[in-house]
Amino acid sequence: MIEAFEYNSLPSRVVFGYDTLKSVVDEAHKLGMHRPLVLTTPGSANKGALIANMFGERCAGLYSKAQMHTPVEITEHALENFFNLKADGTVAIGGGSTIGLGKALALQTDCPQIVIPTTYAGSEMTPYLGQTKAGVKTTLTSMKVLPETVIYDVSLTFSLSAHLSAASGLNAIAHAVEALYARGTNPVVRLMAVEGISTLYRALPQIVADAENKDGRSGALYGAWLCSSVQGQVPTALHHKLCHAIGGAFDLPHADTHANILPHVVAYNSRAAATAIELLGGALEASDPAKALFALNQELKIQTSLQDLGMPEHGIEVIVSETMNKPYWNPRPMNRIAIEKLLRRAWSGEHPQFDDDQ
Ligand code: NAD
Repeated sequence: MIEAFEYNSLPSRVVFGYDTLKSVVDEAHKLGMHRPLVLTTPGSANKGALIANMFGERCAGLYSKAQMHTPVEITEHALENFFNLKADGTVAIGGGSTIGLGKALALQTDCPQIVIPTTYAGSEMTPYLGQTKAGVKTTLTSMKVLPETVIYDVSLTFSLSAHLSAASGLNAIAHAVEALYARGTNPVVRLMAVEGISTLYRALPQIVADAENKDGRSGALYGAWLCSSVQGQVPTALHHKLCHAIGGAFDLPHADTHANILPHVVAYNSRAAATAIELLGGALEASDPAKALFALNQELKIQTSLQDLGMPEHGIEVIVSETMNKPYWNPRPMNRIAIEKLLRRAWSGEHPQFDDDQ
């Protein structure tokens, strides 16, 4: 029997393929964007310059100071540039950090956005924005921040290192895992989540073995689109709460933190969200999905210990308190003792395990 559900599709246009970047000027025209400000991180400024050249004199400028976790000081500086240069929209090319800056500008100006994702982190299809101020990361939801047009160009992803490919791919998988058991999930979201997870699960080892693997590269970007789409349609739960708290407090690498935490949260939720975890098992072709995800991290050479990622031991208590004080809805209620055990395992790099501490 099909259960009752509600389904909202989000209004964004997606262009997917090889060499789709060349459509960026046309896509801007379709949106009525005449003077875009191009956004990048410092490391991807060359890609931004390429786009600025494509627009020629119509380009308002290139702002290449985007940073992970969207610090508000950078947003304020970029906003000043946006107004001084008389921009009327943004073209963000890069990973979640650059896309985050574009979203933060759109929140304040309501300008149209074109986004060209070059990692698999999956911010492009969501109406969410995480911002960091004085070490605290807060997340908001607003349709103003949902990019109008997303151009997926597989050819731009070949330069992404094996490590960043693997970690940001796991970040995308995490979005889809939480969508499987999210409050208000629905059959369409589940279909897309399972397809996204299984596609990325096959693609990431191909990329790590051979960064030029075309099947792996196109599969990973397709999987990232699916995972990002489902994340945009339903709320997130414990996994994202922990990663946001850790990212904001200790400035750990975002994607690696997701990869590290995910197997432990899957174990934590394994009984309360048994049907979703069974679907996850199907996508991973594994009887114990938490173990399979931990093994995937090891195979992809992702750091499995928060300690080695740079989180101090006292951080465990900081994150437990933050999680208990401002909890997200989760299929298994927040249990202080079990969450502390989960974090201690993640911190020291131990295997995931279910704790019966109700
Ligand atoms: P990132 O955007 O910081 O990129 C990591 C590094 O990779 C950067 O130095 C960048 O210049 C480089 N890079 C990007 N693409 C490249 C390519 N193709 N080739 C070579 N180098 C490349 O990292 P990320 O993991 O993509 O994004 C993390 C950020 O995204 C965090 O701030 C996180 O909060 C945010 N995020 C938000 C959402 C959302 O829905 N709001 C979802 C996922 C992630």
